[in-house]
Amino acid sequence: MTYKIGLLRGDGIGPEIVDSAVRVLEAIATKYNHKFEFTPYLIGGAALDACGVPLPEETVKGCLASDSVLLGAVGGPKWDTLPGNMRPEKALLGIRAAMELFTNLRPAKLYPALKGDCPLREDIVANGFDIMIVRELTGGIYFGERGTREGKYGEEAYDTESYSRMEIERIAKVAFETARKRNKKLTSIDKANVLDTSRLWRKIVHEMAAEYPDVECLDMLVDNAAMQLVRNPAQFDVIVTSNMFGDILSDEASQITGSIGMLPSASLGNTTRGLYEPIHGSAPDIAGMNKANPIATILSAAMMLLYSFNLVEESEAIVGAVDRVLNAGYRTADIAHGGEALGTKEMTDKIIEML
Ligand code: NAD
Repeated sequence: MTYKIGLLRGDGIGPEIVDSAVRVLEAIATKYNHKFEFTPYLIGGAALDACGVPLPEETVKGCLASDSVLLGAVGGPKWDTLPGNMRPEKALLGIRAAMELFTNLRPAKLYPALKGDCPLREDIVANGFDIMIVRELTGGIYFGERGTREGKYGEEAYDTESYSRMEIERIAKVAFETARKRNKKLTSIDKANVLDTSRLWRKIVHEMAAEYPDVECLDMLVDNAAMQLVRNPAQFDVIVTSNMFGDILSDEASQITGSIGMLPSASLGNTTRGLYEPIHGSAPDIAGMNKANPIATILSAAMMLLYSFNLVEESEAIVGAVDRVLNAGYRTADIAHGGEALGTKEMTDKIIEML
């Protein structure tokens, strides 16, 4: 079968790490007899330089015509002084909106081989952790009515949050289904002791829990969740939460893994087409130097195989190869602690060798 993959290389280390993921996908295609057809499109600073806008119409059309899309990263000092709507990062919101991606999946996994990178005490992470955060991406306070006005105490600003039953049901469904495929434990995080949106969120999650008797479903208040993530991260399997809480908690969860160059993400909508990207930025400080860790992008490609193409064995093959490379002691500079480090290309070669 042929899969059409749109490539958004972007800026900084984006082109290097996307090319690494493409090489791994090509190795998978050979091994499992698939055909991946790659088409590059411009985004971010590269698009600004070539056509004066961060997200050209052709890029949007190309992504919508692809079976799935792999993104590197956008941005860099060259474009930092541009006005807000011309910034490379603006293209990220634009492409997510155009592809109608309402779910963000962010795994935070501590690799046994990289325990030393975790900033938490050794006894806390003795057994590692493997969390999947399911964040609502297109609703809530980031998209609500906002403004500034004259209030009781003079100038004031406000932001509003609303969530509809439809929005909560569709994200909760993704979360329950995800938990079903993992360790069958779902923690729904809200602020139901204060917020009406959270009370509706909790009510709907409880209603839906009845349809998933095989999944253990718990509620947790967001302030407690922020503490529990550093107190005992291994208690979590799948977390589902709103846009803003997910934004904050997923960054906290990624930090406690200690290695930003290792973490992939997926953004999904109602179709199987998704947008897959590493959680890190364009790392302009190491761009073009063959120093970037390609693993986050390679694991993003593995997520694409699983969530967009349902190629379970192929996806697991990539994850397994990454595990074996790390267990064998190979490191890129960001996780080498001054020890011997492989370049981006050489790390990619090792992963392909281990497939
Ligand atoms: P960053 O993630 O690019 O870099 C932070 C630090 O981590 C840097 O020291 C960098 O060298 C290192 N790093 C990041 N990824 C790495 C990798 N794969 N391997 C090795 N080291 C890695 O964040 P920043 O410096 O705050 O932002 C740089 C640019 O990226 C800015 O223009 C920012 O707006 C943009 N950005 C883009 C995205 C995105 O495209 N999704 C996300 C965050 C930041």
